[in-house]
Amino acid sequence: MIPYGRQEITQADIDAVVSTLKSDFLTQGPKVPLFERMIAQHVGARHALAVNSATSALHIACLSLGLGKGDWLWTSPITFVASANCALYCGAAVDFVDIDVNTYNLCPKALETKLIAAEQQGWLPKIVVAVHLCGQPCDMQAIHALSQRFGFSIIEDASHAVGGKYQGDFIGSGQYSDITVFSFHPVKIVTTAEGGMALTNSDALASRMDLLRSHGITRDPALMTQDADGPWYYQQIELGFNYRMTELQAALGVSQVGRLDDYVAKRHQLAERYDKALESLPLVTPWQHPDSYSGRHLYVIRLKLGQINNSHREVFEALREHGIGVNLHYIPVPAQPYYEQMGFRKGDFPEAERYYSEAISLPLYPTMNPAQQDEVIDVLQKVLG
Ligand SMILES: *Cc1c(COP(=O)(O)O)cnc(C)c1O
Repeated sequence: MIPYGRQEITQADIDAVVSTLKSDFLTQGPKVPLFERMIAQHVGARHALAVNSATSALHIACLSLGLGKGDWLWTSPITFVASANCALYCGAAVDFVDIDVNTYNLCPKALETKLIAAEQQGWLPKIVVAVHLCGQPCDMQAIHALSQRFGFSIIEDASHAVGGKYQGDFIGSGQYSDITVFSFHPVKIVTTAEGGMALTNSDALASRMDLLRSHGITRDPALMTQDADGPWYYQQIELGFNYRMTELQAALGVSQVGRLDDYVAKRHQLAERYDKALESLPLVTPWQHPDSYSGRHLYVIRLKLGQINNSHREVFEALREHGIGVNLHYIPVPAQPYYEQMGFRKGDFPEAERYYSEAISLPLYPTMNPAQQDEVIDVLQKVLG
């Protein structure tokens, strides 16, 4: 089976992890801050906080922005459930904004319409999570302008978009958002096995997230309520969590991040090769906004079902039967049983539902060779021809 995505682990990665394993620190040593500095410098962010997953990063991002009971968080229905769950962890409520027909990202027009209605009804969101689906950035300038007008904070869920750019700047540089979140899960762009990061240019948000990722404990005298009892002293001043990244994970991350730009470039080459090869088939290839340089985490095609004899499901099953490890990103979050019980119904987000009825993610990963890609293309031609 040709998988839809896979990590690359080199001998240098293995050596880096083994050397850390033999060192004094398995956690809370020098590798985590080194990894943070490397990523922060690479993307041009003031602060980078490594944590044990993007899900954890989303949680402490929401808490640091003050999300709580009685608040709303809005996001895209076409995302991984974690982009929405982070609100529920904080006791807040979730709603969704339908997607753009071309980019499949949260649509700024739909967002504006919903904000105008919400303002009249008195339930404006506190946070909007802009998910850069497949690695292609959202229309951040438009979303940012709306945040100024309606007074909400912005988290970029850039789990797919590490190494991508928006208007020429690396995603994570944060011109148009408060916090950006990266994932280092093995299927994503670079990996630390499990792992994530929260990036921000705000000293105050960084300091809050730093507390929240480690029990709410500080050793900084400036943050304490009284003078230290002695050199052993620390204080818990918040209710935090153990969301720390280990040294082993950070060592892997440090070793991987040197290949980040090459990986994204390789993904672009493969995507462009797909674009050409699939041109004449009854499907829509991923449209790219001229302002964006996508991380190209996923290559999603949409079937033109009116021109095909088989159903979406039949095409998907035929591809799997022929050894092509296709996938579907994503089932709309409001259609998940856990969300349906909150009152979401079919028809609430028609563009997202149409997307779900046509989308298939083709295999794409930086070590994919031309023969493997040709096999995917051949099978697709057979199945759709
Ligand atoms: C993978 C992913 C997450 C969660 O990442 P973890 O590191 O596995 O917690 C969140 N949002 C999106 C869009 C993702 O793809």
